[in-house]
Amino acid sequence: MKFIDEYREARSVHRFAEAIRRETTRPWTIMEVCGGQTHSIVKFGLDELLPQDVTLVHGPGCPVCVTPVELIDKAVEIASRPDVIFCSFGDMLRVPGSGHSLLEAKARGGDVRIVYSPLDAVKVAQQNPAKQVVFFAVGFETTAPANATAVAQAQRIGLHNFSILVSHVLVPPAMVAILSSPQNRVQGFLAAGHVCAVMGTTEYEPIAAQYRVPIVVTGFEPLDILQGLYLCIRQLEEGRAEVENQYARAVRRSGNEPAQQLIREVFQVVHRKWRGVGEIPESGLGLREAYEEFDAEKRFGLAQMVAEESSECISGLVLRGIKKPHECGAFSTRCTPERPLGAPMVSSEGACAAYYSYRKRAEVQSMKLGAEK
Ligand code: SF4
Repeated sequence: MKFIDEYREARSVHRFAEAIRRETTRPWTIMEVCGGQTHSIVKFGLDELLPQDVTLVHGPGCPVCVTPVELIDKAVEIASRPDVIFCSFGDMLRVPGSGHSLLEAKARGGDVRIVYSPLDAVKVAQQNPAKQVVFFAVGFETTAPANATAVAQAQRIGLHNFSILVSHVLVPPAMVAILSSPQNRVQGFLAAGHVCAVMGTTEYEPIAAQYRVPIVVTGFEPLDILQGLYLCIRQLEEGRAEVENQYARAVRRSGNEPAQQLIREVFQVVHRKWRGVGEIPESGLGLREAYEEFDAEKRFGLAQMVAEESSECISGLVLRGIKKPHECGAFSTRCTPERPLGAPMVSSEGACAAYYSYRKRAEVQSMKLGAEK
């Protein structure tokens, strides 16, 4: 397949792995920010090709995983109302709240629908004027332009039965929070290529300079990731801390300016709570005053709702690269994709789901024993 097979070609993969082995003289810990990259690494066994001195830790870039539990509770509360059609991407349906998931709300009679774009939800609102239609606007900078478009369109056509439940988060403040933590062990980052395709790379430059960490903007295929790691390790070995762009086929330094303009028009930067992590200042997006009539939390009076997270789930430590999924006591026993305790076990970008799907049970067991020693 054009532009897929080329980036999975076995001989080139082994050549890059060999180049990484030659380059590495000391232990390094590198975080891949995005859950899509985590899945590629675990699915293709890329971490097993690396020298023992290179440790990969998995980052917070799974939007489903970092959506706070109270927002799931708010979604369930809204979706359970008889006058509401609740629209969401499929990933969110099985994420556990403090009581129920959206899938359980649907089983109990809620009108919960899977859509593939926020504009589909706008159409549902147009077709159902007697119902309130709510879209669960979850994601990083990548999904923000489409969600902004939906809200701007709803305003333009005077659609008063449409709103969005916003859970937008931003990558750079999360990286700063990781680097500022006393428990931090990350020495270099593979930044998320698709986020940078929208936002560009300039906002990573002050982070690389201030914290002295290389940041390599990286794609999602095996060769992308190995090349990203090679560039990151080369910087570490040479004592450099710069922003480099491995994913040049999709990312420009200035990013997609019309998309950024759309985000700025509809959203403003706000403090956001991250599941398992807590509040990170200026780490999310909320609707601007001019669009607040489309804010589902305000429309349904749920802004003050709070909820408790599962005390057993260590997803906050997994998302900050402090622990790996198999180091969680509940992994594959009390927490499985069928009965999840935390979002990383059900999201298609979740690190726990990646380990559950792609690592053999015996292998995970021996990893767990290794972690307990
Ligand atoms: S295995 Fe389950 S309980 Fe443990 S961190 Fe992952 S999602 Fe949370």
